[in-house]
Amino acid sequence: MKKFFVKLFLVLATVVNVFGGLTVQAQEDGKLNVVITTTHLADMAQDIGGEHVNVTGLMGPGVDPHGYEPTPSDIDALNNADLIGYNGLHLEAMFTDVFESMEKSGANIFSLDEAITEDQILDYKYEGKDLEDDPHIWFDIQIWDQAAKLVADEFAALDPDNADYYQANYEDYSKRLEELDQYVKDKVAELPEEDRILITAHDAFSYFGEKYDFRVEGIQGINTQTEAGTGDISITADLVIEEEVPAVFIESSVSDRNVQALIEAVEARGGSLGIGGELFSDAMGTDEENAGNYFDCYKTNVDTIVEGLKK
Ligand SMILES: [Zn+2]
Repeated sequence: MKKFFVKLFLVLATVVNVFGGLTVQAQEDGKLNVVITTTHLADMAQDIGGEHVNVTGLMGPGVDPHGYEPTPSDIDALNNADLIGYNGLHLEAMFTDVFESMEKSGANIFSLDEAITEDQILDYKYEGKDLEDDPHIWFDIQIWDQAAKLVADEFAALDPDNADYYQANYEDYSKRLEELDQYVKDKVAELPEEDRILITAHDAFSYFGEKYDFRVEGIQGINTQTEAGTGDISITADLVIEEEVPAVFIESSVSDRNVQALIEAVEARGGSLGIGGELFSDAMGTDEENAGNYFDCYKTNVDTIVEGLKK
């Protein structure tokens, strides 16, 4: 914990210098104070850190990370953190400047793209062009395992006395991920391959589709901050008719406006399209929704997708 106390001392010293006598409350429990942007990563960090870390997640259930702007209290939390973690790959677009300036000022900060190799990152393609890196990496269970290892290593670097503890928690987490992967494979196997067409409000499920052989179409593209054109809706409506897709899925963190527009476009073509249910794409849900942790959230999504697409 030496580094931690040095850091805390520096924070105190800075605050005292700047404000002439103010102090911040010391972390009396001796735990690492970790601040994380997204729900998926905050949940995983708490599992890896266990009793030796306090994790503060800045974004709650149902919050869209593409458009979330840091609040003054978020900035306070970030300034007082021993360690900051974020997804990266431009998911938290509104945090870019904040993280850049914090990094320059020497904050301990990591993003999950450090855990993965370039060839693992999917490119978002639109009209045949590679546009940008796809940030929705939590749907790739292998990548998520690497991310969990990175988190364990980050904790161990700041708190070497508990390095074995973090490593053991990572190994346990890794086993649970393996079981989850098997669960998903078994569930997906209930659906014939030709029926595996997943249409959602925005393009969050490409990593899922890649691993489990789904064709994935997001009406709005990869980023919730862009508008879906009538062209996108019309192309997707044609696909629904052609492939007799029974259902489209809404997302807890995205407006269902485009989904409704798609349903209308399909009906205008004489077809029909139901809503297969609500998916937790860019933010987890609550325990009541059976989506309050990474594992439940993934299983609930897969159950919803498979049941919704059965003909
Ligand atoms: Zn997204």
